[in-house]
Amino acid sequence: MRLERPSSQAEATAALAGGVALAGGTEVVPLLRDGILETERLVDISAVVPRGVSGTTIGAGTTLAELEASSTIPAALREACRLAASPQLRNMGTIGGNLLQATRCWYWRLAFPCYLHGGDRCHAKEGQHREHAFFGNDLCASAHPSDPAAALLALGATLRTDRRELGIADLYRLPTAGDTRTTTLEPGELILELEVPEAESSVYLKAMDRKRWSFALVGVAAARAGGVTRVALSGAAPIPWLLDASDALERATPLPGTAYKVEIVQTLVGRALASL
Ligand SMILES: Cc1cc2nc3c(=O)[nH]c(=O)nc-3n(C[C@H](O)[C@H](O)[C@H](O)COP(=O)(O)OP(=O)(O)OC[C@H]3O[C@@H](n4cnc5c(N)ncnc54)[C@H](O)[C@@H]3O)c2cc1C
Ligand code: SF4
Repeated sequence: MRLERPSSQAEATAALAGGVALAGGTEVVPLLRDGILETERLVDISAVVPRGVSGTTIGAGTTLAELEASSTIPAALREACRLAASPQLRNMGTIGGNLLQATRCWYWRLAFPCYLHGGDRCHAKEGQHREHAFFGNDLCASAHPSDPAAALLALGATLRTDRRELGIADLYRLPTAGDTRTTTLEPGELILELEVPEAESSVYLKAMDRKRWSFALVGVAAARAGGVTRVALSGAAPIPWLLDASDALERATPLPGTAYKVEIVQTLVGRALASL
């Protein structure tokens, strides 16, 4: 396997044709090691993806640790970064990589031939699914693991890639039988920057199996800006999930093992709105 280190956007685009982008590597390296991801070419994108916070703009190469320590970004995003993973992982992991991390569904990570691996069934629905979805789970019942993505969705963030600008909601898509991708990025497309509007008030609350260093059973982000309040969830659906109406939770489709998550979300949404 080759490691390339492009120093310009054009070099990166060329190298990424058939290659895999490497930022902090906290997701790419374990997937390579476990044989879930295969490539002949790793492309270190650190020289071409911006890093750091400038006003409302965040470079996609900024680490979660840097965001956690930033006093200028909205509280929901800062808290979502602080509660994600471990200090070591937050020192390496970038916000761009975090938004694109793969599912933590253990059937998928153990290479069971499920829908997302091109198979014809969801092993989790038939088996163990306590950590899985209660929205958007028609095909795949995985629960999106990113805490910052829920915060960015509530905050109404937008992304700039090397090809276009898009709202964070448009980065994601629910997998279908004919197309099991969970993002809309084209092959080789790079996220360069995030634009995160200021909020009057925002908060991120996370329920975990233990108090630290754990993926969200559910995470609730809420933000108020311009008189509009938005609430978004992590750990709820195969993609970050916006609660688009006050009665949205009534339309949840929990599995036998995930009904408890709806009750937790009801409580956390109440706390988050009170906190705003
Ligand atoms: C044990 C463990 C616990 C964790 N706990 C949590 C948690 O509680 N909450 C949470 O939110 N996350 C958690 N994570 C995920 C962690 O935050 C991510 O692994 C990390 O942020 C990924 O960033 P990275 O820079 O290392 O990405 P990489 O591993 O380098 O890349 C991840 C993916 O994104 C692609 N990529 C990276 N940057 C770009 C870019 N700019 N443009 C296009 N593609 C890009 C890569 O090709 C790859 O597909 C955990 C991870 C581990 C291993
Ligand atoms: S939840 Fe999704 S990733 Fe997990 S086994 Fe089912 S189809 Fe595969």
